[in-house]
Amino acid sequence: MCDLNAQYSTMKDEIDNAINRVVHNSHFIGGIENEKFEESICGYFGVNYAVGVASGTDALYCALRACGIGDDDEVITTPFTFIATAESISRCGAIPIFVDIDSDTLNINVKLIERKLTNKTKAILPVHLYGQSVEMIHIMNIAKKYNLKVIEDCAQSFGATYIGKKTGTIGNASCLSFFPSKILGCYGDGGMVITNEKQVADTVRQIANHGAAVKYHHDMHGINSRLDSVQAAILNIKLKYVDEWIDSRRHIADIYHSNIANNKVSFLNTMKLNGNCYNYFTVRTKYRSKLKTYLSDNLIQSTVYYPLSLHLQPVFKGLKQFGLLNSEKAQSEVISLPMYPELSDSNVKLICDHINKYLTNRLQCDTLVNNKSIE
Ligand SMILES: *Cc1c(COP(=O)(O)O)cnc(C)c1O
Repeated sequence: MCDLNAQYSTMKDEIDNAINRVVHNSHFIGGIENEKFEESICGYFGVNYAVGVASGTDALYCALRACGIGDDDEVITTPFTFIATAESISRCGAIPIFVDIDSDTLNINVKLIERKLTNKTKAILPVHLYGQSVEMIHIMNIAKKYNLKVIEDCAQSFGATYIGKKTGTIGNASCLSFFPSKILGCYGDGGMVITNEKQVADTVRQIANHGAAVKYHHDMHGINSRLDSVQAAILNIKLKYVDEWIDSRRHIADIYHSNIANNKVSFLNTMKLNGNCYNYFTVRTKYRSKLKTYLSDNLIQSTVYYPLSLHLQPVFKGLKQFGLLNSEKAQSEVISLPMYPELSDSNVKLICDHINKYLTNRLQCDTLVNNKSIE
């Protein structure tokens, strides 16, 4: 799916030196590497503030709270995402309100948002799934009309664009994840909140430092959540290459698009206004579990993001939210194929050949009962 060692070997000396530098100066929390990284991220996104935290999950929690989300507030989001998105809403004492996804992009269906608003709704939390931006114009229009905050979950959309603007620069605050398999991954956990609003940035920093703006003076409940300096040093090196890596991902996606030719596998729709950064390359098929096994037998990894829509997860079942049919359909059909910048053209083509061959030769022999998926 993702060969992190292949990437390390392209910049081994630089990374080793960066880690050594931190070990030798013993500045493990905060310090120059963090300042430099926060500044570089502000430059990369063209935003005023960036605050490093310990994970993308903490970034979501801190950003939501800094935007004023608390007990019994409702936050609109998608059910088809990683648990961290909705979990962070609950962690603030608020309630995630799931809106079904668009069946072509698998992102939140912006047309369905307004009917889920109540007088408790305080924010919208769009997730740019797999690396494709949500239709942010609609999100921002709704937010303006009803005076809602917008917190973007950019964990999978680092460097992706929407009408020429980078995702993460449109809402009130946005959350980045540096989990190793993300577009810009570190060597452990890491995350960041970016924003143009000083008050939001200051509050995130305060929450992440035990609620203290001045040391040992705690004005609010906080947590301990920091991007450690070793990770910041690694990210300072990797950030230089991230645009090249995104170009490679787009090139690989092009190969997948032009070589997978089978009516049993369909692509997601990449909208024309979007510069998809392809954190994951996901296709749909009713024959998912057979295809997955077949790929694995041929030493090709694949992953299902995500096998269970969040409204059906035991932890959220009590919310009793129904009618999220596109999300439930997607959970049984999506499969993500290997995608990382160092993946060679010939290997991508080989994966395509396998997919084409299997579905034409083998599946013809299978009976498709009532057009249901064969799982
Ligand atoms: C990875 C991810 C997160 C959480 O990031 P961590 O750094 O792993 O805490 C949140 N939302 C989405 C959509 C993700 O993919």
